[in-house]
Amino acid sequence: MREVRIRDTLSGAVQTLDPDHEVGIYACGPTVYSRIHIGNARPFVIFSLFARFLRSEGYKARLVINVTDINDKIYAAAARAGEGSAAFAAAMTAAYIHDTDRLGLGRPDAEPKATETIDGIVALIAELIAGGHAYESGGDVYFRVRSFPGYGKLSNRRPEDMDQGEEAGAAGLKEERLDFALWKATKEGEDTSWDSPWGPGRPAWHIECSVMAERELGASFAVHGGGSDLVFPHHENEIAQSESAGRPFAHVWMHNGMVDAAGEKMSKSEGNIFQLSEALDRYGREAVVAYLISGHYRQPLAFGGRQMEEAVARVERLRNFFRGQAGASSGGDPAEQQRGGSGGSPPESRFEAFREALADDFNTPRAMAEVFELVGEANRDEVPGAARAVAEMLDLVGLRSLAEDQGAADSEAEQLLQEREDARAAKDFSRADEIRDRLAALGWEVRDSADGPRLVRR
Ligand SMILES: [Zn+2]
Repeated sequence: MREVRIRDTLSGAVQTLDPDHEVGIYACGPTVYSRIHIGNARPFVIFSLFARFLRSEGYKARLVINVTDINDKIYAAAARAGEGSAAFAAAMTAAYIHDTDRLGLGRPDAEPKATETIDGIVALIAELIAGGHAYESGGDVYFRVRSFPGYGKLSNRRPEDMDQGEEAGAAGLKEERLDFALWKATKEGEDTSWDSPWGPGRPAWHIECSVMAERELGASFAVHGGGSDLVFPHHENEIAQSESAGRPFAHVWMHNGMVDAAGEKMSKSEGNIFQLSEALDRYGREAVVAYLISGHYRQPLAFGGRQMEEAVARVERLRNFFRGQAGASSGGDPAEQQRGGSGGSPPESRFEAFREALADDFNTPRAMAEVFELVGEANRDEVPGAARAVAEMLDLVGLRSLAEDQGAADSEAEQLLQEREDARAAKDFSRADEIRDRLAALGWEVRDSADGPRLVRR
């Protein structure tokens, strides 16, 4: 089991994950008020692949990504669409599941929804009030920030620079400007509400994650993730809520940088591809995943048509590599390849460096550089075991299908080859020639040898 290190936003230091305990990962998911965009897909991809990597190293990992399905933005968007907010949020949640399914990375182990966590939210708020950390005011409940001495430790901000970003109307209900809402009384125009000791209302945003993380992972867990835009106030407030209630909460804070479409002057069509489903339609899932792992997760990632075309080119390069390898190894001895692929051979040491890059603060661009180094070497000279090693590396970043596509093409070609043999056996030579031409059109040459015919890439 490899040592896995993560740069922790809270301490600023590199922290090593504990291999003896389950690595619980909680990442903040989308607020479902519209179809998700590429920026929302980044944490989904990064944390899904991070959990996959940990499992491949023998860690027990449990990934939780929540769905925020109560929110001011949802009320506003539902009203614009002329729909009830509950039905609207349910439809957008289904769209989110559908869009992220298309990434082909599987689902998180749990995807709790705020609307299904109300009982736990009410209980934690009551606990905070009892402990003097929160107070009811006008049917709302607010967190008393001054009651938590550690406030600001995650974002390293001074109180005077902090703005909770809450609506102006709340100001008159707060003891202090810095306090933030835990519960909001139902307002006119809001069509969903839940009963509580403070009257009908709904939870505010931050409290739901404190509750869902604990419910799914326990009061103390390994990694809390999310976009860097959530450091303040969202994650700062989660810490204040959970620690004030005596929970140790997350050990390591892992933040991904923003996908930045602002640098690029986008045409209307480029604006559309910022939506995940449009990007998937236009570039395919492999290019979208390849794009999202092309930069280190902590750094901002520039987005635009140019970056997506570059991702398409990288994916094509990998696809072509497998095609070439399939041709080169046709008729070869797989056992020979296996022997070549062990013990410090180029594929083995590249795979080792690839995994080491992922263990070192999940450095996907450095890992992918190892893939392309090996691809380049194997394209120049025969490198036994290269195709298998590249396929295994790509498996860890959700791109194994690039090798399997080749397999699909192979089986189609193999079937045609068999049909050609059958035609020859039946002395139907014109049919056999027809099939040979068909194979040629697919890029295969039939070579007849003493051992029978075999396929070679043209
Ligand atoms: Zn959250």
